[in-house]
Amino acid sequence: MEDIAWEKDQTPYYVFPCSKCRQYMYVKTTQKTKKCLRCGRAHKVEHIQDSSELVNGISTAVEVVKARQNELAIQTLGDIPDLRAAHDFKVARSHSTPKEEKDIERGENGFLEKYKKILLKISSLYHKFPLYVIEVMADNFGIPSSEIKILTRSLLKEGIIIKINSNSYRLNVEKLQ
Ligand SMILES: [Zn+2]
Repeated sequence: MEDIAWEKDQTPYYVFPCSKCRQYMYVKTTQKTKKCLRCGRAHKVEHIQDSSELVNGISTAVEVVKARQNELAIQTLGDIPDLRAAHDFKVARSHSTPKEEKDIERGENGFLEKYKKILLKISSLYHKFPLYVIEVMADNFGIPSSEIKILTRSLLKEGIIIKINSNSYRLNVEKLQ
């Protein structure tokens, strides 16, 4: 009995990004085609083999898709010039030491606005996401980690960030705007 319960799913899957919208997805290696759920582009499995990662088991496939999406989001957001310009802060300051922090825009409202912009960007990329995505992103944009904790807590309270379960959160976009 126990052996059966603990038997691992070893079904092989390919994990690959959509050639049109870059969304990551997985497909069984035995399947012929896979349609992107986001943009609808159909991918022939024989054509994506070379540009994909081979993983074993559905849970691993899901985890790898999530990880690649996070990386993509962080890369994408790290390169958004209007977000930087709008708040007149330099990304070089994002790793500042505490004594340099006084140079950074202070005041809860300043950070709150910046933080909300980051959340809007996240919401345009994800339906749901782990909380650390916000933390990584906010850190990249120069919000001190102490502020990130305070802002996250208060936006959870306000129902702008909504907890789905211990790993997933989603955003109430209407309240954000
Ligand atoms: Zn797509």
